[in-house]
Amino acid sequence: MSEGLVTVSYIAATILFILALGGLSDQEKARRGNLFGMIGMAIAIVATVSGNQVTGALSYAILVMTMTAGAWVGLQLARRVEMTQMPELVAILHSLVGMAAVLVGYANFMDPGATFSGVEKTIHEVEIYIGILIGAVTFSGSVIAFGKLSGKISGTPVLLPARHWLNLGLLILTIWFGSLFVAGAAEGGGTLPLMLMTLIALAFGVHMVMAIGGADMPVVVSMLNSYSGWAAAATGFMLSNDLLIVVGALVGSSGAILSYIMCRAMNRNFIAVIAGGFGTDTSSSGGGPAAEITGEVVPIDAEGTANLLDAAKEVMIVPGYGMAVAQAQHSVNEITKTLRAKGVTVRFGIHPVAGRMPGHMNVLLAEAKVPYDIVFEMDEINDDFPNVDVSLIIGANDIVNPSAQGDPNSPIAGMPVLEVWKGRTTIVLKRSMASGYAGVGNPLFVKENTRMLFGDAKDSLEAVLKELGNG
Ligand code: NDP
Repeated sequence: MSEGLVTVSYIAATILFILALGGLSDQEKARRGNLFGMIGMAIAIVATVSGNQVTGALSYAILVMTMTAGAWVGLQLARRVEMTQMPELVAILHSLVGMAAVLVGYANFMDPGATFSGVEKTIHEVEIYIGILIGAVTFSGSVIAFGKLSGKISGTPVLLPARHWLNLGLLILTIWFGSLFVAGAAEGGGTLPLMLMTLIALAFGVHMVMAIGGADMPVVVSMLNSYSGWAAAATGFMLSNDLLIVVGALVGSSGAILSYIMCRAMNRNFIAVIAGGFGTDTSSSGGGPAAEITGEVVPIDAEGTANLLDAAKEVMIVPGYGMAVAQAQHSVNEITKTLRAKGVTVRFGIHPVAGRMPGHMNVLLAEAKVPYDIVFEMDEINDDFPNVDVSLIIGANDIVNPSAQGDPNSPIAGMPVLEVWKGRTTIVLKRSMASGYAGVGNPLFVKENTRMLFGDAKDSLEAVLKELGNG
């Protein structure tokens, strides 16, 4: 393929990626957005493989083998991974982008492919240094995020003494090694400072994510998404591949915007979150111990729930991570249809960090074909709870925890939550009194107007459906 054709293909792919991002911001256009992304990626791969950077039968043989192996692994993952495992899959995929940037950086350092001199050489070395730095932080940070999201590593923040000074020290060391690397590389050395910086960057990634408390993980996930974009852009600079630079910048900036949105949604300061340890720090809470939760838990059965729903005019459904675990979205849709057929107004209230990844609940509800026009964001419906007769909380916990507002010592103090307790009756569907991801007790469960429907959310909903006369 001629260079001109490759450039045209790259421009077409870039436009398709931008259209894909635009489509993904709206549920109804998300499918089309995904399709644009897939076509864009296919064009990008064909153009890159048939461009003049790949030459010789051996290169093609290696590419075919590695791409076949990669496609096979991807296919297996797509088939096997449960919806509840998606967040950790995304985290581990981010780590691969980081690792690629590190490997490309080292390969480029050992064999630059072209000879550079003067300022160009310095720029090339800085590209390598920064590419490896971002790649290594992304890699180790994402591996720890994978561990935390999959429950292999505890969500409790690990706070080293004087950790901010430690981070500052590591940053200064990184800059110093950078100057040694550029000076050393000019004299044919530079390997030692590069390797030491890589070790520091790996340690920093681990330290950064280990220090973050459970409830602040959404910000970390979107931030690592952003880092993986910048790591890809850095790889693009090292390989002089314009498309990779553009795509990396798209992912990097959209991830940064998402992190900002997440921080705003959780009333957190972005810098404070990435500096680590927000979840338990005195900076987010009043400094004292969290209030003890005392009160009586009032259980309810499927029949009682069905009676309350039958008598209601306004029902609000609040789904959380437990709905994903129970795969209860289809039963939720059935209940919604049944109630609407009886003339009950049913709406959904979605918290921005419900579940384990941005948009988690929207994806599940769309899969179950819940109409989009009855699904509302938290800000749109939070003032309506006083008019709600029954709120059904399906496997949600942290996002409906009143102590975020009422207890300044709670680790989630200040995080906006859905004010379900302001409705007439709240029915919480979960299996036990266990806490949610942030690991904090929830006084909602002992409120006077709360009823607990214990059991797996799907089983409970099916029993309620039967009672409603539709099972
Ligand atoms: P939570 O993790 O707070 O609570 C989920 C609840 O679901 C649990 O208390 C659990 O209780 C219940 N549950 C689990 N399985 C089932 C089941 N089969 N049937 C019924 N109930 C079940 O989830 P929320 O959605 O309320 O809040 C999300 C949390 O995750 C927040 O802390 C958020 O910060 C964090 N997070 C969010 C991310 C995002 O991007 N959205 C990313 C990373 C973290 P029990 O065991 O008793 O059944």
